[in-house]
Amino acid sequence: MRVSFKTSFTDQRPPVDPAIEDLKRWCVRFHNLGLTPVYEGSSLGNLSFRPEKNENAFIITASQLKLKNNLSEDAFVKVHSCDSDRAIVHASGTREPSSESMFHFEIYRKRNGINAIFHGHCGAILERAEDMHIPVTHREEPFGSAALVQRVLEILDDNLFIVMRNHGFIALGTDMESAGELAVRMYEECLNNKRR
Ligand SMILES: [Zn+2]
Repeated sequence: MRVSFKTSFTDQRPPVDPAIEDLKRWCVRFHNLGLTPVYEGSSLGNLSFRPEKNENAFIITASQLKLKNNLSEDAFVKVHSCDSDRAIVHASGTREPSSESMFHFEIYRKRNGINAIFHGHCGAILERAEDMHIPVTHREEPFGSAALVQRVLEILDDNLFIVMRNHGFIALGTDMESAGELAVRMYEECLNNKRR
């Protein structure tokens, strides 16, 4: 997936944080459940957490990553801030941050209590979202675009689980555990909620 912004690297070392181990575990779990399916060699979807409560910086999976076992240290990038108007992302790490870093940043900025954002692609959830009263963005927009960020913010409100039309879901949580478990629960409910 192409990155639609320019990354300005403040330093070229991958972030160091003990909570990255938790993020790795969630990457593996999402991968195994098929919530981040592999397309042309890289996984669709991206997972992030906010390491410092009162800052908008976050640690996110790198772009073009295969979210599998044995993720190396350079699989994660710290995004310090995003300049949406100029489409510049300030980051530290050795790889490009996920192409969808912009909506992560805007959600962290708007929602102080949210410390983890997990985004996946899942056909079962897309199909049943409306039946299950999950908020869905009003229009489909290109992956990684500024327009997509706007669509997400339009319906964000206080929701913890939303769907981007014809694209994927976003699960939010006060911590990784709650974002991840929410996504898994919604996925299971979508599988069980078959049409009659
Ligand atoms: Zn996506």
